[in-house]
Amino acid sequence: MTLTLDLHDVKKTYRGKIPALRGVSMQVHPGEVFGLLGPNGAGKSTLVKIMMTVVKPDVVHGTMLGKPIGDKNTLRRVGYLPEHHRFPEYMTGEQVLDYFGALADVPRDVRWKRIPELLELVSMREWATTKVTQYSKGMRQRVGIAQALISDPDLVLLDEPTDGVDPEGRRDIRNVLAELKQRGKSVMVNSHILSELEMVCDRVAIMVQGQVAKQGTIQQLTEGRNQYDIELAQVPQGAIESAHAAAAERGLVPTLSGMTLSFPTSDPVLVQPVIDSLRQSGAVIKTVRQHRPTLEDLFMEAIVDEQGRKRGPGAKRAGVVGEAKPMRHEGGAR
Ligand code: ADP
Repeated sequence: MTLTLDLHDVKKTYRGKIPALRGVSMQVHPGEVFGLLGPNGAGKSTLVKIMMTVVKPDVVHGTMLGKPIGDKNTLRRVGYLPEHHRFPEYMTGEQVLDYFGALADVPRDVRWKRIPELLELVSMREWATTKVTQYSKGMRQRVGIAQALISDPDLVLLDEPTDGVDPEGRRDIRNVLAELKQRGKSVMVNSHILSELEMVCDRVAIMVQGQVAKQGTIQQLTEGRNQYDIELAQVPQGAIESAHAAAAERGLVPTLSGMTLSFPTSDPVLVQPVIDSLRQSGAVIKTVRQHRPTLEDLFMEAIVDEQGRKRGPGAKRAGVVGEAKPMRHEGGAR
């Protein structure tokens, strides 16, 4: 099966001194929703712009929809929602779709058939003849997604579709992504809002400072990483030491963070003696829960790894591509 996107060793340095991409490899499979995540400045938009031939890479190997990156004809099969897009203010939603459809060479009769369908898909049908200036940010983004679909593309690239959109609008956009997947489209979505990706993506890549730190299904990235967290309300002297000893007898090495002891196991049987030991030492247990790392945990690990690597013995300060800030995790599925 031909990969939708198969990139190897993509490099880009802006103006000879700002290293935006430092050898990126990435694979997207047909029909999947792929999430590209990373803090601002990680290089996500640069990568998408290289795929769209808007930015010229220093090095690129690989294919998009089976054709070499840079092949203009392939772009006919790709829909694109750029970040921070602006529609001409005098247009209505319907006119936006007609205009971008015409630019994409979609015949007029096909456009006129498709426009109401797409507006329906993004729940904007009743706003079709309202000027875009009257739209909320979420409505503009939804029309932006419809615009990206006007040529019935096989691959849809959405750059920060939920940026600045309120929670209700984000839920609507998530539903649209799920619908696109149903329709067999491959979707690549850039977002710095982790919960967005966690809920809709089949696979994700975590980019940090111009490199892919991790890539795979959330299942793969978190495999073997289940843990039990025991949150304590009161810890008498010696309780932690005896919990450590009880855990060690079962081959577990717990970590303590604040008042929470974490055990790297998904086996409830192994945790029971630790609970017994804690209670015998008079500790008050507040909660016990099984915990799978979230995307946020994976992301923070990737950042810490990157910073640790840079600070390693003799490491020079690498070209800094934006700040590695924690990302927003706004509720949602864990
Ligand atoms: P992201 O989409 O992950 O926020 P970008 O691809 O926008 O990251 O940016 C990656 C890096 O490249 C950043 O340091 C950014 O400042 C820089 N950069 C992006 N576009 C340009 C440009 N046109 N000229 C110079 N530097 C740029």
